[in-house]
Amino acid sequence: MDDSYLKEFDAEIKQVIGNTIVLDRTAFYPASGGQPTDTGKIITNGKEFVVSNVVKQDGEILHQLSSMDGLNVGESVRGVIDWGRRYTLMRHHTAAHVLSGVFNKEAGVLITGNQLDIEKSRIDFSLENFDREQMARYFEIANELVAKDLSVSVYYISREEAEKNPSLAKLATGLPAGIQNIRVVDIVGFDAQADGGTHVKSLIEIGKIEFVSAENKGKNNRRIYYTLK
Ligand SMILES: [Zn+2]
Repeated sequence: MDDSYLKEFDAEIKQVIGNTIVLDRTAFYPASGGQPTDTGKIITNGKEFVVSNVVKQDGEILHQLSSMDGLNVGESVRGVIDWGRRYTLMRHHTAAHVLSGVFNKEAGVLITGNQLDIEKSRIDFSLENFDREQMARYFEIANELVAKDLSVSVYYISREEAEKNPSLAKLATGLPAGIQNIRVVDIVGFDAQADGGTHVKSLIEIGKIEFVSAENKGKNNRRIYYTLK
């Protein structure tokens, strides 16, 4: 949450539940908010265990392992994230914020859904006019912003403070329910959003955002796909 570039960490096994473990701390990102799970490995006593899926359940982060052979509560482990995958997802996630910021500023749209992936990602939003040329223009604006290499900072504000700034919630559903400390991902000088994902620290890391396709998903519901080069 505070250091998206943490690739390895030491931790202790707090709980073993089925074929999953809970650690006292973790840098693995559980699938949530349209950002897919991290994968990687857990190492202990010279043995490696593949982490194939990470989910959040009842406030705990469960690491699903390929095998549980010899893993016990209290054991010290080293966690290693598949950095290639995660870094690509970070680039895609920050790109999603650049695009949704541009679409919001240019056309006043709200985001109704998104799904990031390492090959291509998608964003759904409410937009009455469905004009591919206009969308291509929005991608140009997004790439101009990337070229400016704005920095991205992450900080927390109170819910009270967040509610005073409606532009923080680009999701049609508004701010996340029941959370007092709102995490803000701020593309400094462009757009700040309430968000729980992992992001690159400067826009240049995104590379080039390419418009793959757009789909009409019904009245006021549009879907775009993008990829990164
Ligand atoms: Zn986000």
